Amino acid sequence: MSDPTRPRQPTIIAVTNQKGGVGKTTTAINLGAGLAEMGARVLLVDLDPQGNASTGLGVDVSQRDLTSYDVLLEDVAITDAIQQTLIQNLLICPANADLASADIELVSNEKRSFLLHDALRQREIDGLQLDFILLDCPPSLSLLTVNALCASHSVLIPLQSEFFALEGLSQLMLTIRKVRESANPQLRIEGVVLTMYDGRNNLSLQVEKDVRETLGDLVFATVIPRNVRVSEAPSYAMPVLTYDSASKGSEAYRALAREIAAHHGMAERAGKES
Ligand code: ADP
Ligand code: MG
Repeated sequence: MSDPTRPRQPTIIAVTNQKGGVGKTTTAINLGAGLAEMGARVLLVDLDPQGNASTGLGVDVSQRDLTSYDVLLEDVAITDAIQQTLIQNLLICPANADLASADIELVSNEKRSFLLHDALRQREIDGLQLDFILLDCPPSLSLLTVNALCASHSVLIPLQSEFFALEGLSQLMLTIRKVRESANPQLRIEGVVLTMYDGRNNLSLQVEKDVRETLGDLVFATVIPRNVRVSEAPSYAMPVLTYDSASKGSEAYRALAREIAAHHGMAERAGKES
């Protein structure tokens, strides 16, 4: 990994929470768009058989000839599966329903936890000059998610602002700890982001207080509000940043992108390029 002859290495971030419907895909798409808007080169890898990130970024099912399934299980070079999206600087490796059987097929593979790690470190990828790779994980702690955790530098955890927000988090943290102990000691928590936040609602306020008290600095300053424009954007096959650039949801995802860019020392470069 630390070959001095190689150009800069992208930061790989897994967007993970084993609960469904908490805003993983929405965050992967719109954080990706936000970073791309700042001038970063971003690849989103869709690791969910539902393929929502692919659909949400305008890659029709009929255009998914090569997918993350082929990369993981058919030895296809990831650069052959990657497509440009409608958003400048934002690329995608799409997914489709093929991926639903990946977990079973992976079990008998000796390198089952490292297939994505290896795919993302193929030399061909250097030519893409990527700054960030975002992994949109499925709603489980399956081998696909383990592949994402083994391949990543950090984990971004969306938590829905609801009563059971923290439920399940200890199981995710335990999985992260196990991956650190066995396969990826450098794996960090990028942060926890509260999603679908309703500031007029006492419950959201209480959940935010609890989450910040429990997790402290791990929680991003930015919270993502519940915003109808965010939920409409995928049906127009675009990020909310494109669909309604001035919406509250777009502003929030831009703020999250700035926080993450700053973590990775990218603010200055982004400022110069925009
Ligand atoms: P996951 O990938 O964790 O399953 P999604 O990102 O698909 O979750 O989000 C679940 C649903 O909630 C989707 O219909 C999405 O459009 C909606 N949603 C996500 N974030 C917001 C938000 N900030 N405001 C309104 N709706 C949202
Ligand atoms: Mg999803």
